[in-house]
Amino acid sequence: MKITLSVIKADIGSIGGHIKPGRRLKERVREYVQSKGTKIVHDYVISSTGDDIAILLSHSGGVGNSEIHGLAWNAFEAGTELAREMGLYGAGQDLLKDAFSGNVRGMGPAVAEMEFEERPNEPFLFFAADKTDPGAYNLPLYLSFCDPMYCSGLILSPKMSEGFSFDIMDVSYTEGDRVITLDAPEDIYDIAALLRDNQRYVVEKIRSRKTGEIAAAVSTTRLHNIAGKYTGKDDPVMICRVQGGFPATGEIVEPYSIGHFVAGFMRGSHNGPLMPVRQNGTISYFDGPPVVSGAGFCVHQGKFTEMVDLFDHPLWDHVRDKISRKALEIREQGFSGAAMLGYDELEYGGIVDRMNKIESRFKIRESSE
Ligand code: MG
Repeated sequence: MKITLSVIKADIGSIGGHIKPGRRLKERVREYVQSKGTKIVHDYVISSTGDDIAILLSHSGGVGNSEIHGLAWNAFEAGTELAREMGLYGAGQDLLKDAFSGNVRGMGPAVAEMEFEERPNEPFLFFAADKTDPGAYNLPLYLSFCDPMYCSGLILSPKMSEGFSFDIMDVSYTEGDRVITLDAPEDIYDIAALLRDNQRYVVEKIRSRKTGEIAAAVSTTRLHNIAGKYTGKDDPVMICRVQGGFPATGEIVEPYSIGHFVAGFMRGSHNGPLMPVRQNGTISYFDGPPVVSGAGFCVHQGKFTEMVDLFDHPLWDHVRDKISRKALEIREQGFSGAAMLGYDELEYGGIVDRMNKIESRFKIRESSE
């Protein structure tokens, strides 16, 4: 059976600042998908990570399906209506256009999708990150799909012996989708040279080279300028198929024990360590740290099993302690140097206005030589 997995996620309002959408808001989105989606979806799951609500859907409509995208958009609009009634902070903030036009890509919400022929058993993982951008997945994906130090299957499993191909997008190119496909292992130095720059070159898709099957899809899009606001580098979602010809679940999740520094954190303007957290978790310290949640499922004839929380295990408590220390340490230096993003990357306009204002006060000193 050929199925499509789609994750569409948006921040449509949260409680107490950029913290958590709350139970009632998620319930409203769930009710909408339940009442309007039954004819077009096989199954669905609603979850939240930080202030974002994600709708995970299985269906037979293919990638970029306007009915599926419309369902998610309308569910978020229904949620926004409640968020406004409740006076939630940032109600509807990720719905950047007034009218839906067939595809939510470039309209505010983040989307990750893949279509494939379902295996007899089809385990897959769904990740959602908050207070960061799609480049946050670059390092974990590199380690899981290129590096036998993290993915032992690359040397132990004949099904993975030919490696994987990476579609990588230059998200700063705004005229169209500028994408390169590189093959691991032959091109790993080129892949590393691109993926070290999380702000510009971002993994979009990964495929098995042996079978051509899709392995991973990330909600990567180039920057769009909508109503004067740049979008496209938003809190990202990702779907990964696992086992068989793909890495094992543990080989996909292990790199999240690093807590590597990613862009995001307070006002999307700082660097902080990416912390793996439990499902439906909240945000706290300095509107962060950047977080990622992970859910495991099997899908069978389009129906999901119950969810397993990938980061709900005692080992991850130890990892979270380590990453908390990293977060506290980089925060000790406040705005200085590596703690805050470079001038070109600052999303909020305030510092640009400030720099323009003081520009005229600079003087070129006459040479005293
Ligand atoms: Mg968010």
